Amino acid sequence: MLTDYHWHLRTDEDRSRSEDFAFTRENVDRYLVAAEEVGVEELGCSEHIYQFHQALDLWRNPYWERQARDDLDAYCEFVRTTPLRLGLEVDYVPGAEDRTASLLEERDLDYVLGSVHFVGDRAVDMEGEYDIWQADGDPDSVWRRYFQLLAEAARSGLFDVLAHPDLVKKWGPLRPLPERDPRFYYEPAVEAIAESGITVEVSTAGLRKPVGEIYPAPDLARMCAEAGARFSLSSDAHVPGEIGYGYERAVEEMRAWGIDEIAVFDRRTRSLEALG
Ligand SMILES: [Zn+2]
Ligand SMILES: [Zn+2]
Repeated sequence: MLTDYHWHLRTDEDRSRSEDFAFTRENVDRYLVAAEEVGVEELGCSEHIYQFHQALDLWRNPYWERQARDDLDAYCEFVRTTPLRLGLEVDYVPGAEDRTASLLEERDLDYVLGSVHFVGDRAVDMEGEYDIWQADGDPDSVWRRYFQLLAEAARSGLFDVLAHPDLVKKWGPLRPLPERDPRFYYEPAVEAIAESGITVEVSTAGLRKPVGEIYPAPDLARMCAEAGARFSLSSDAHVPGEIGYGYERAVEEMRAWGIDEIAVFDRRTRSLEALG
């Protein structure tokens, strides 16, 4: 079994089209065709929560206010008319756990990806006005806070999957890196992953980013595997050609980390299938 549970129908490019193309059967079919070509059997889309106006009940950051244009219920209804699994990529917003829980419980989702993009009001993966590295150049502080939030996200019980678990490394050598052994930062997150039983996402998106490495890094993946974690597999595609991106390499690396099963989701229930 190969899955792709983390990718987006709504893209930046799509925003500039005059007609609304994202949530149309024509758009979905492009992804279904691409998945079939690369042998990905199980496909689910996971739009960003902040694209929906309902997200503003959770957090009112200026970036979210600009993005929040779609209706979450219309999205859910649309995806249910297609063969796709219904997912959502949801930021962990500290302090908004109860509001996040009710927003998710009210919808009939197959799975929820939990993400940490923002540390405070700046993001680890964005350039420009929200770039955390412009505001706080101290890698020790950024990495420590990032992995603490990741641990809190795991323990919150809000999410089925922890998305791109070491996203903080995205820029590779283009941003300062901490001097310590990264395992120091991973430790609290791995403990939380083990205690919560949350699924850890293996994401090939890192291969397309300056870091040039799958999320999670081999050391983090091995620590999670040793702690008994389960894994899912995704590409974080933003165009059909990225579905199943780098999967040969991902499957090879996963086997080297001791992983031979991947998670599949149905109405927020996980089961395991043989990998590959
Ligand atoms: Zn993300
Ligand atoms: Zn994503």
